[in-house]
Amino acid sequence: MASADVEDVPQKDVSYPRKLIYCGECTMPLEFCEFHPNYEKCKKWLEKNLPDQFDALMRLSEDDPTAGGEGEKKKQKRGGRGMIKTRKKTGPQKVTIARMQRNKRKYVTVVRGLSTFDIDLKVASKHFANRFATGSSVTGDDEIVIQGDVTYDIIDVVQDKWAEIEDEMIEDLGDQKR
Ligand SMILES: [Zn+2]
Repeated sequence: MASADVEDVPQKDVSYPRKLIYCGECTMPLEFCEFHPNYEKCKKWLEKNLPDQFDALMRLSEDDPTAGGEGEKKKQKRGGRGMIKTRKKTGPQKVTIARMQRNKRKYVTVVRGLSTFDIDLKVASKHFANRFATGSSVTGDDEIVIQGDVTYDIIDVVQDKWAEIEDEMIEDLGDQKR
């Protein structure tokens, strides 16, 4: 007779709602990144933009014993994963919640405070426009708005141009509402 013990039945398509997150590098859902030829780039993007997902992904891909995955798994079983009830390791089960950047054009990068270094905002704005090949304008008495999300490069660009602005004098405020 067939075993009534269902413990080993793989749960294929569990019908919990799964949030798809799309990779900013290859534009595919994160689960497909590993099939992308530029997986390394994907991982970099992920690490930068969604560190939590990156972490989870790295955990999941630790299937080969050489990566010391056993320890990790044991840890997970002990409830470290909080509210996520990980019952099986059969499929890529993961629930992720994250802010998404669907479209670069929907972001602008706001730079404030340059004039506290006696920097001419018009010159600065022009410099940014050239460096990022995008629109940039002086929008306030000490504010420059650059079209697009250049937040990952802006600090380097600023410091390249104005060496007097030291690391601790620049603060990345992250996402801000207008
Ligand atoms: Zn990707």
